[in-house]
Amino acid sequence: MNIKIIDKRTLIVPILVSIIIFIFLGQIVYIGIRDHFYDRVRELSIHLAKGYSYSIQNSINSEFLFEQLIEDKLLLASETTAIYTQIEDRSSLVLYAQSLRVDEINLYNPQGVLVLSTMPEGTQWQTFEGHPIYDFILRPDRTMIENIRANYVTGIEYKYGYYKLENGNIIQIGLLASKINELIGVLTTDHALKDILDSNSSIALACYAQPEQNELSCLGDDLGVNNYENLIKENYINQSEVIGLVSTVDSSLYELYVPIMIDQNNVGTLILYHEMDEQNEALVQLLYVGFSVLAIMYFLLAYAYIVHFNKNKQLSEVAYIDDLTQLPNDLYLQKTFEQFKEKTDQEKSLIMLNIDEFRTINVTYGYHHGNQILVETANRLKKVLEHSQTLFRWEGDRFVFLIESDHQTDQFEFANKILQQFKQAFDIDDIKKVIRVKLGIVPLEKSISSLQQAIQKAMITLEYERLVDKDIFVFNEDIASAMIRETNIVKELQDIIEGNNQERLSLVFQPQLDLKTNKITGLEALSRLNSDQYGSINPAEFIDIAEKHYLIYDLGKVVFNKAITTINELISLGYKDIRVAVNVSGIQLLHDQFVNDLLILLKKYKLSGKHIEIEITESILMNDMQRINRTLEQLRAHEISISIDDFGTGYSSFFTISELHVDSIKINRSFVRQIYTQMDEQKMIAREIIQLAHKLGLRIVAEEVEHDKEYQYLLKHQCDCIQGYYFCRPLQSHDLYKFLGNR
Ligand code: C2E
Ligand code: MG
Ligand code: MG
Repeated sequence: MNIKIIDKRTLIVPILVSIIIFIFLGQIVYIGIRDHFYDRVRELSIHLAKGYSYSIQNSINSEFLFEQLIEDKLLLASETTAIYTQIEDRSSLVLYAQSLRVDEINLYNPQGVLVLSTMPEGTQWQTFEGHPIYDFILRPDRTMIENIRANYVTGIEYKYGYYKLENGNIIQIGLLASKINELIGVLTTDHALKDILDSNSSIALACYAQPEQNELSCLGDDLGVNNYENLIKENYINQSEVIGLVSTVDSSLYELYVPIMIDQNNVGTLILYHEMDEQNEALVQLLYVGFSVLAIMYFLLAYAYIVHFNKNKQLSEVAYIDDLTQLPNDLYLQKTFEQFKEKTDQEKSLIMLNIDEFRTINVTYGYHHGNQILVETANRLKKVLEHSQTLFRWEGDRFVFLIESDHQTDQFEFANKILQQFKQAFDIDDIKKVIRVKLGIVPLEKSISSLQQAIQKAMITLEYERLVDKDIFVFNEDIASAMIRETNIVKELQDIIEGNNQERLSLVFQPQLDLKTNKITGLEALSRLNSDQYGSINPAEFIDIAEKHYLIYDLGKVVFNKAITTINELISLGYKDIRVAVNVSGIQLLHDQFVNDLLILLKKYKLSGKHIEIEITESILMNDMQRINRTLEQLRAHEISISIDDFGTGYSSFFTISELHVDSIKINRSFVRQIYTQMDEQKMIAREIIQLAHKLGLRIVAEEVEHDKEYQYLLKHQCDCIQGYYFCRPLQSHDLYKFLGNR
């Protein structure tokens, strides 16, 4: 049998959940670290941009100063040269130029003819109209500084300065434009971009955009793009804040647009392309390590959990399996019942099996033998199990099946199959014995919400089967309410016997009329139970229950007590010869203490036995006649009279009665009723019974006399006594005193 005690979900769910959490957290960590890298890049870029904006400002300032310095140098050099006009050959002039750290010195006569030059090819060249020197000769100015321009002869670019001497001669000093640009270039924006690239190896490309001037300069790797203008996203330029994004050109690049501010004016945007390969690699490595560590931790955790799970499973199996029969036990039934009920829409039933007289087997053959019977029973029951049925050992000699079936007939079929298993005798320790079992079927309808309810119904069914001697019975509400009523009545009777609420049991008294004297000579005491739950209950019901539950003997004692109390009351009221008949059932009479207890009671109340009559029914006589007769004899020895109740219905004959110590017989109602219903007097039996009784010297009482016709007949045929509604119903004590008083 496969027992599913621990739900595997308890293992799988936490592992799944933790994996999901793990992936989720991993993602968060990954994004966190990546963003951290991006933030670092952004900070670095802002830092670079700040430096860049200083550089730009500086270069703007420095370029101007530098220009001034160069111009001053040119003028100074030309003035100095003017003082040394005695230089007449080119080689001296070259030396002189070197000492002044200038690149070119030229001397022109007042007509603009080049007379001496550091250039080998330059002499005798003459200026012409439209040339800057030509213009200078015409102007009265002593000095002139020119913007950079190409030398007319060599085509090399220079920046020139001029000085006009007193005699009209002109000195021209030139500085190579390439040298000037090199010096000024140190201060330009491009140079700043280069600085950024040099200082930061992770920057692949740095650009500076000035949309107002329509200028864009870029420095760095080509990135495979010909036209940087297409690369740069225009709408990110000239924004007031830093914008960073993963580049669309290459996902390993991170693009940053940093505004460059000078005196709180946005003068342009620095665009930096950071290579993130290194960071990404580091990130992947970090994740790899993190995942590995966590995976190991998970593996260890899962291992510990599985070990724990298996251990629990083993423990559960011990708790849920019956040691003796190896069947699932009552605990397991409790655990799985609800689940079984909800499982399918099919009709379901609980069948409880009970071994008949198992207690007797235990007592007779010992517990070991009893256990063997239980094991063998379980084995036989296992044989009938099919897919949709489960078997449990409930407790003691009880087993429970949970079955699914389509019809009630299926349940019966299954129950019969179970019974078949017990046809063959059990052969244990060489003791052969047929074991009888009873099966109580409880259809698990919607109204049954708990196992407790189903079990209770099964128990009721089994109890009912015991009473009606059946093997299989399906629970129904009628037997349930009858059983519940019985249980409650038993409880009330037990209560009364224990001396609590004794007023719930009362006696009514029905007078017996002596037909010869027309006097009341006796009374019959009849018991009434006034139940809390069910009101007045007839003795036919509760006496039967008291007998079944072995309460009748003790209850009889309470009845005798009450009867004697009333007798004493009547005696004190002057009814000195009154005799009260008390009904006694077989179990009472057969009890070995019956006579003794009754005598003790009489002694206690100082009452003579002649006031007591015992009414016994015929059926009692089927038991040990001799023993009964001895008891009757003992009673009569103490003047207690004996009456046979309901005579003529059972098995006794006048012959058996003649052998017994009996004083009177009470003719059963059927003979009395015959007097009323039968038209032909010849066919009435009552007269013969009266005559025969008289022949045996017995007093005869007719009971349940209701009609005048009956009374007249009985009177005519010399019946000694009558009892019945005809002249009085059973009366409560106080009504009885009144009734007797009136007579
Ligand atoms: P029973 O001893 O044969 O009692 C006579 C029954 O007939 C009583 O019913 C009584 O109320 C009823 N009865 C009397 N006159 C008439 C009548 O004219 N017509 C009709 N239809 N019925 C009449 P009750 O009290 O229900 O008692 C039923 C039986 O219960 C008694 O039958 C007796 O056998 C038994 N019983 C009553 N009290 C006790 C008791 O204290 N102990 C024992 N062991 N049995 C008792
Ligand atoms: Mg009676
Ligand atoms: Mg009777």
